[in-house]
Amino acid sequence: MPPPIAKVVTDIALDREFDYLVPAELAGQLRIGSVVRVPFGRRWARGFVVGLAARSDYPNLKAIESVTTDLPLFDERMLRLARWIADYYAAPFESAIAAILPAAVRREGARFKEQLVARVCPDAAPAPADEAALAKKSPRQALAWERLKQCREATVAALAQETGVALAGLRSLEKKGWIRLAKGVVRRDPHARMTVLPTTPPPPTAEQTAALAAIRREMEAPQPGVVLLHGVTGSGKTEVYLAAIRAALDAGQGAIALVPEIALTPQTMERFRGRFGDTVAVLHSHLSDGERHDEWRRIAAGQARVVVGARSALFAPVRPLGLLVVDEEHEPAYKQDEAPRYSARDVAVMRGHLEGCAVVLGSATPSLESYRHARAGKYRLVNMTRRVDRRVMPTVRVVDMRLEAEKAGGAHLLSQELIEAIRLRLGRAEQTMLFLNRRGYATTVMCPACGEVEHCPNCSVKMTYHRQTDLMLCHVCGAVRPAPAVCSNPTCRAPNVKMAGVGTQRVEAAVKKIFARARVARMDSDTTGAKDAHAEILGRFRRGDVDILIGTQMIAKGLDFPNVTLVGVIQADLSLQMPDFRAAERTFQLLTQVAGRAGRGDVAGEVFIQTYAPFHPAVQSARTADFETFYDQEIELRRELGYPPFSRLTSVLFKGADEAAVNACARDFAARLRAALPAAVRLTGPAPAPLAKAKNLYRVQLLLWAASARNYVPALRELLKSFKAPKGIAIAANVDALSLT
Ligand code: ADP
Ligand code: ZN
Repeated sequence: MPPPIAKVVTDIALDREFDYLVPAELAGQLRIGSVVRVPFGRRWARGFVVGLAARSDYPNLKAIESVTTDLPLFDERMLRLARWIADYYAAPFESAIAAILPAAVRREGARFKEQLVARVCPDAAPAPADEAALAKKSPRQALAWERLKQCREATVAALAQETGVALAGLRSLEKKGWIRLAKGVVRRDPHARMTVLPTTPPPPTAEQTAALAAIRREMEAPQPGVVLLHGVTGSGKTEVYLAAIRAALDAGQGAIALVPEIALTPQTMERFRGRFGDTVAVLHSHLSDGERHDEWRRIAAGQARVVVGARSALFAPVRPLGLLVVDEEHEPAYKQDEAPRYSARDVAVMRGHLEGCAVVLGSATPSLESYRHARAGKYRLVNMTRRVDRRVMPTVRVVDMRLEAEKAGGAHLLSQELIEAIRLRLGRAEQTMLFLNRRGYATTVMCPACGEVEHCPNCSVKMTYHRQTDLMLCHVCGAVRPAPAVCSNPTCRAPNVKMAGVGTQRVEAAVKKIFARARVARMDSDTTGAKDAHAEILGRFRRGDVDILIGTQMIAKGLDFPNVTLVGVIQADLSLQMPDFRAAERTFQLLTQVAGRAGRGDVAGEVFIQTYAPFHPAVQSARTADFETFYDQEIELRRELGYPPFSRLTSVLFKGADEAAVNACARDFAARLRAALPAAVRLTGPAPAPLAKAKNLYRVQLLLWAASARNYVPALRELLKSFKAPKGIAIAANVDALSLT
């Protein structure tokens, strides 16, 4: 007899579990993870069963009305993970449940797509004379029959499209006893149009062999742990993941590989599908709901055993799970930006721990957090220091733009050295990538007479000038304004407003002017708005139809183009100037990643980093590709200042249209929190966030610091639950916040 009480979490956000009676007739179907329909107040609600119990402390319980899915959507272990997420990230429990299930699966009415399918009858053997007669009488039916004889089954819709046959025609074939028509499930396959040639693994390098051995030792350990795979760009980390996944499959287990969304290129997918074929499922934000539903179900049914995807693929129902890989583990994109604001990397480590499965974190530039764990022996550190095939690391040259400005009598976009280097590549039919992490033409428009800058009316940022459209654009809220002809300060109105600061459009214009005959393409979010535009630009570049590719961080990561022998960073200072204590770390990561795009083929690569801060440690360490030195310097700074990883940092952001009300609310919240916290927790603010206003909402921030998040998260979560924010003010807690803007 299953227990008569079920604990249910409903879709309605209350951060509570409710007890319901289990009617005898449902007892057999009910499990942890079942989706149920329950009476809730005077309405109905959908809920998830998160516990079963023999007794309840509450009288007069209502009964569950029905079970609405055929299968439970999660098991005990995933439930434990969801509870951990809610507790650790101070998030409502139902938001954690929502996070572990794709909306396409969770949604009411989510189901497989059924269509009418025609199948050849197993014993159908029409006489050649009958077939000939059919061809005469009804050519379309004959065509459909020929088609079906080849493929044995096809959807009615597909047959109609290919042969023009009507449903009535197929029915007549059915009457002859040649085929049968029936409803069938049709898989919505995100790769239906992609043919991938199977690949075999290359013979591993010595470093790859050692890395794989270390991972396999973890996989086979009684309590598998975490491996931090620190390998320079092009050292063959992906091959190591593929080999480790193969080992998991051979042991009858499945695997999940997380990649940052930006790295989910067709190229990455091809590598996985080439090696593992149809057992690969993908989960990411570019799938349709139907595709996501079917992929998830394929995983749950054990038909797909290798999952590749972005952040949320971490929760894929792979059973049994033998390996979790987080590629580019340092990527901020792994942090979810709505509740629960989890870090997919950190949750992956927790899932591995809860399920006893090995976790591999890979990067050329590990996060300070992970590297510190590795140094302390919490993670097993594996180094890959050489590129495969004896390809050399690119030569990195730092160009001091202060000297350039003196030489050229004013600031220039491209240094003479970089221009010469590009010219050399053009002459040798090699390719160049130019990187600048800012789109648009000019960063701002400024009046030389009064200094007035064009600000967004809704946000506390400058507006960017876009040349194609001749408009000023706010990159935060999307507001547009005509480009001003005169100063917009009413008391000034001086003509000749000046463009200042550079964006990718300006780089493109400059490059086209210097190299009139070069084929130039630009890749940033202005040129990749259309579906497939991204793949189209990269395709042209890969085919060699483009000599110079200019782009934002979209081109910085993961791309592998053997003919690129030159990379230019137009202005390394942009990311150094970010108002963020991780600015140096981010700059080092970005420069290393960008530099890693050069020289991946037979010709050695060269990299130029243009900067006004040539001696900054982030720039110098990127030049020598020396992660250890960078780490040692940066970690000392963090230690002195008490920044992460020496403390757990959490932000609480208050947003609202009424500035005074937002401030008052934040102060009130801070006072109550202070009263509930142990003295060891440092609380700073509330103060305006660096981005003080966005989309007409004022942003005020409170920061919490302590050696462990456990010191303050329980109190924070309680307060978030009980605190009544005034109408129009939203409060968002971000545990282990990565961005403090
Ligand atoms: P990373 O992920 O470290 O940047 P990749 O795994 O993408 O490196 O490898 C870089 C390139 O080298 C890829 O084109 C890959 O196919 C190739 N490669 C990797 N391992 C080997 C090997 N053992 N032998 C030959 N080529 C390899
Ligand atoms: Zn704006």
